[in-house]
Amino acid sequence: MNRDEILDWLLETDPVRLEELWERADAVREAHVGMAVHLRGLIEIGNHCVRKCAYCGIAACAPGMERYRLAFQDIIDCAVRGQAFGFGTVVMQSGEDPGITREFMVDVIRTIKRRTGMAITLSLGERREEDLRAWKEAGADRYLLRFETTDPELYRTIHPSLPGTALSDRLQQLLLMREIGFEIGTGVMVGIPGQTWATLATDIWTFRDFDMDMIGIGPFILSPGTPLDGELGEQLRREAGTGQVPSDELTTLKALALTRLLCPDTNIPSTTALATLDPGAGRANGLKVGANVVMPNLTPPKYRVLYRIYPGKAGLQETADITRDKIEAQIHALGRSIGRGPGGRGRANMVGID
Ligand code: SAH
Repeated sequence: MNRDEILDWLLETDPVRLEELWERADAVREAHVGMAVHLRGLIEIGNHCVRKCAYCGIAACAPGMERYRLAFQDIIDCAVRGQAFGFGTVVMQSGEDPGITREFMVDVIRTIKRRTGMAITLSLGERREEDLRAWKEAGADRYLLRFETTDPELYRTIHPSLPGTALSDRLQQLLLMREIGFEIGTGVMVGIPGQTWATLATDIWTFRDFDMDMIGIGPFILSPGTPLDGELGEQLRREAGTGQVPSDELTTLKALALTRLLCPDTNIPSTTALATLDPGAGRANGLKVGANVVMPNLTPPKYRVLYRIYPGKAGLQETADITRDKIEAQIHALGRSIGRGPGGRGRANMVGID
């Protein structure tokens, strides 16, 4: 499939043709990554952030936010709980926060590895090479960093570089992470103001071009008080005109299914943003059209509510065991199994338990 064909599929509205897309994506998922759905326990380790991303509710410029960082022992306790739940991977995510130091994370990573043996994924934003190398050496396995958009001008607008630093280049960062030895994960939001159909087609093409190991795709959800909630959002939408991609479930599912067709053996989550947009069926719908991963939240509820990158996040008030039970029931209802082991990219992915 070339870029023009991706674009045609994104614009497809015929339900019969779309049914064909869903079926093809599901068949490719089954053939290449099997029936197992891998669970990655998410720990939101802090919401301090130095960036001013125009889409994000915890950006440095977000007014009146109560900020937190989880204590060392809180993080370890969350990871141990994830292991007791049978999760093979723990994902630690935060705002871009120099207050989360290299040394602190080295300690956390070493301790989680020693106590649980779980695979460790980091999603801590753009960090210095020395940090990345130290964390890899301490035992981290994977890094998630969405490139957000392939349109360079839109990227600069919605993801300003830090003052006094080189231009932010997340694709470059991802290549560095791969060279250091991480499995690399990336992704985009669907329907950010200023995103055109042609840009989204290029985004999907780029996942394949860079042979990404993990790809997260969720709908853009407007975060009140962010720049995209105001004049900037209006302006970007006006400029995109009829080319503007909607931030709806159908478009997200098309992007997900096409990504599965182009990247048959990659790990693709059914995202929390999709479950937020459609609390009833979003997560299952993602799993039906190509996704093979879900990321249940392990963050204590008290802190979950403060990690507000967008409003109404699915599972906000739940404890971790409730979230886990709900997700496992959804997976079984689809006739799929729960993944066992670390579930990295490759044949080990096929293994599951009922
Ligand atoms: N600070 C880290 C983690 C950010 S949160 C980083 O920048 O990589 C993880 C992802 O959430 C982001 O990459 C972005 O794609 C997504 N996100 C942020 N704000 C969002 C919003 N309003 N709607 C939907 N997704 C959002």
